[in-house]
Amino acid sequence: MKKIRRIKKGTETERFWAHVTKEGSKLLSTQCWEWTGPFAGRGYGAFFMNKTYRAAHRTSWQLHNGDPGKLCVLHRCDNPPCIRPDHLFLGTFDDNNKDKAKKGRAPKGEGHKSTKFSDQAILEIRRRAAAGEPHRVIAADYGISQGYTSRVVRGHYRQSALRTRTFLRSDDGREETG
Ligand SMILES: [Zn+2]
Repeated sequence: MKKIRRIKKGTETERFWAHVTKEGSKLLSTQCWEWTGPFAGRGYGAFFMNKTYRAAHRTSWQLHNGDPGKLCVLHRCDNPPCIRPDHLFLGTFDDNNKDKAKKGRAPKGEGHKSTKFSDQAILEIRRRAAAGEPHRVIAADYGISQGYTSRVVRGHYRQSALRTRTFLRSDDGREETG
């Protein structure tokens, strides 16, 4: 049976909002509510809760709408630090990739659809890990376990996704192209 983890009212909620400014994005001139730190990398906020870091925008979704489960929490405003509930929407991995491709953040031409993770998602997870993002943050972002994230990063899944590239592993488990 799956245990549903709820966010505690009161302290956790207060602690979350202490990291948020509602002044709007100066960069984008939008009415975003931006996370002020700490950050997980690539502008995404990181919120420490239940002994682990979670993506701040996912936490915001959970606070307002409940657990997003396996779905991705995406930004309508395309502003990674934004946690404003009405700027967020749920999507699948494919939606996430399409959204990124549309916004010019990822290479186009995704073919795989049959399995849980698209090649694109795997590459994205590996790319983020290689950029130094903690596995726990990536795991929280994709709604998967830290162990699963580590296995994806180490290349246990979908070797074909990286056939054209050689990966070297550094001591701390990060990958570098070589
Ligand atoms: Zn926003």
